[in-house]
Amino acid sequence: MFASIVIENKSKYTDTFYTYETGELFVNPGDKVRVPFGKKEVYGYVFDVTDEKPDEEFEIKTILEVDEENSLNPEIVKTAAWMKSRYAIKYYDALKLFIPKGKAAKPGKEKEPYKDLISRYSKPEHFTSEQENAISVISESIEKNTNDIFLLHGVTSSGKTEVYMESISKALEMGKTAIMLVPEISLTTQVIERFAGRFGKENIAVLHSKLTERERFDEWMRLKTGKAKIAIGARIAVFSPLENIGVIIMDEEHEATYKADMSPKFDTLDVAVKRLKTYNGVLVLGSATPSVTSYERAKEGIYRLICLKERYNKTPLPMIHIVDMREELRNGNASILSEKLNRYICSALDSKKQVILLQNRRGYSNFVSCRECGYVMKCPECGISLTYHKKEDKMICHYCGKKYDVPKVCPDCKSKKIKLVGFGTEQVEEVISSAFPNAVVDRLDLDTVTKRSELDSILKRFEDKKTDILVGTQLVAKGLDFDNVAVVGVLLADTTLNLPDYRSQERTFQLVTQVSGRAGRGDEQGNVVVQTYEPENFTFKACMNHDYEMFYNDEIKIREFMNYPPFGDIIMVNFTSNDEELCDATSDRFTKYMKNCLKTQDKGLEKGVMNPKVAFNFKGQDSFRTYVLIKCPKGERNRYVYYIDNFQSLLFNERLKVNVVCDVNPYSIV
Ligand code: ADP
Ligand code: ZN
Ligand code: ZN
Repeated sequence: MFASIVIENKSKYTDTFYTYETGELFVNPGDKVRVPFGKKEVYGYVFDVTDEKPDEEFEIKTILEVDEENSLNPEIVKTAAWMKSRYAIKYYDALKLFIPKGKAAKPGKEKEPYKDLISRYSKPEHFTSEQENAISVISESIEKNTNDIFLLHGVTSSGKTEVYMESISKALEMGKTAIMLVPEISLTTQVIERFAGRFGKENIAVLHSKLTERERFDEWMRLKTGKAKIAIGARIAVFSPLENIGVIIMDEEHEATYKADMSPKFDTLDVAVKRLKTYNGVLVLGSATPSVTSYERAKEGIYRLICLKERYNKTPLPMIHIVDMREELRNGNASILSEKLNRYICSALDSKKQVILLQNRRGYSNFVSCRECGYVMKCPECGISLTYHKKEDKMICHYCGKKYDVPKVCPDCKSKKIKLVGFGTEQVEEVISSAFPNAVVDRLDLDTVTKRSELDSILKRFEDKKTDILVGTQLVAKGLDFDNVAVVGVLLADTTLNLPDYRSQERTFQLVTQVSGRAGRGDEQGNVVVQTYEPENFTFKACMNHDYEMFYNDEIKIREFMNYPPFGDIIMVNFTSNDEELCDATSDRFTKYMKNCLKTQDKGLEKGVMNPKVAFNFKGQDSFRTYVLIKCPKGERNRYVYYIDNFQSLLFNERLKVNVVCDVNPYSIV
């Protein structure tokens, strides 16, 4: 027999299959093996086994040994091979995602994180009829191995987690395994508390990037050896070494954190779908605000849609008030606090209730808007907001790179009040502290929290009602569950609305809906005040009505018109290097190369290749970064990635020291 092997080596040079004879050994795809390589011995992974003798010009050597303990399963190598072509990465880069660093602990020395956690769970006496329905439909699919993808669209507190647990229970009953994914490491604790109560901690292993190397390896081993049947964690848990996966659940499926922010820039959803194909397992995507792409797939019938419309305890959703900041200005109020929000805060403080104020920091003073009419400068070709660059004093489109002068008067209403908009959380904290001198104000953002313990102590103070007003970035929007919050304010929704991202409206809808979930968790209805210069944007009307469908129907038309996902992809190819000239030259060369590849098809596809751009504010390992954006029509992605991969090989063969990273549908372009 002959085995195709990928060796453990990060060089592009060895990124290929090597053929070995299996000799006396019994070898399977996924096995870790020791093989002679040149003058050395190295480890590698078997990707394929065949009895046909391949045409090799070299002498075929024999595998020395199989490392049973650290071997993977056949599905994992299949998925890794697929990832190589999907993301234009090396085999070994894909494999490494499945294999933690380190080696097995000495018996008895294993570490188990979250072991001492007190489980908090009591099974509801009855499920709502919506829950019953969801559970029975998903369970049937797990039982019949239908390999379905479900989109569970349920308002906050509709009891989605109960549906997840019942689905997992069904999978275990069938002798299968399960993966439960959450978008944020900080949310894993809550989930484990509930799951441990339901399934027993011994059946659960946790995987995320904040475990120690030892913990991560040991949890991995517990999954691999079948001691734990449920993996819980952030996106890396999708690489759990499980076999026969019955169900994978992605909670808050719309979250940006499911997309890897470092190379390889994989999409957790794609990997989950691919893995489940082998096992005919079921995928459940849960969200109160599904991504537009997922919802479209549900409409098309690619996903099966299940709705949970009722909150299990029927508490009304909060009132959402949209405040027109242009009107405030006309009435002589130039502060960052509208009269209405001010009033709500006062009355909350009077009745000893708490307040959360959100200011999204990402948009700090970098888009231009007219305070008179709300006009925002957008790129006419790409439809996204232009970003101000101080160094050049120009407005730049982060998609196509076109530059525009900063207007002196508003092109729409001729007002001179057109200027940079934005402020950060520090400024908010200052203004709020002086506006409410008797209130205790605290701030939660990446500047104030550098350590997990600080985050915990800020939250603890708030939970203990020592803080009256909590000011923060989107960190405050997620998962906080306090029952004394009467008012939530979004100080400038425009910062999210004008992110240079085709999803900016989707993200605004999600943010407002999510942060609204923080208001009025007790028995009283909460109030949410959203301040904006663009109140007529359809996104806000949908937020006000708590109407996802309404938002979706408008948004999907724009996506279709612009050929943005789900109607096409945006591929960002990044070049980084320590050599500035080389970096520039390579991105120029790539642009020409890519246009050439696409020209031959005679469909005008080459027009989708934008000119290369320099990334400012780049803080990476290499010193310089340039990037090229490509608009790619639906269905062409694989071909485009193939071209990009070939270009990488070209660079490699010339021994050029430039790094290439491919990012499909990137979340931020800066
Ligand atoms: P979601 O994930 O949709 O936001 P959860 O599953 O976290 O909602 O449920 C919210 C709260 O409601 C939890 O405290 C949960 O225990 C409770 N809950 C859910 N379903 C029921 C039910 N059928 N009966 C009683 N309580 C329930
Ligand atoms: Zn104007
Ligand atoms: Zn543009």
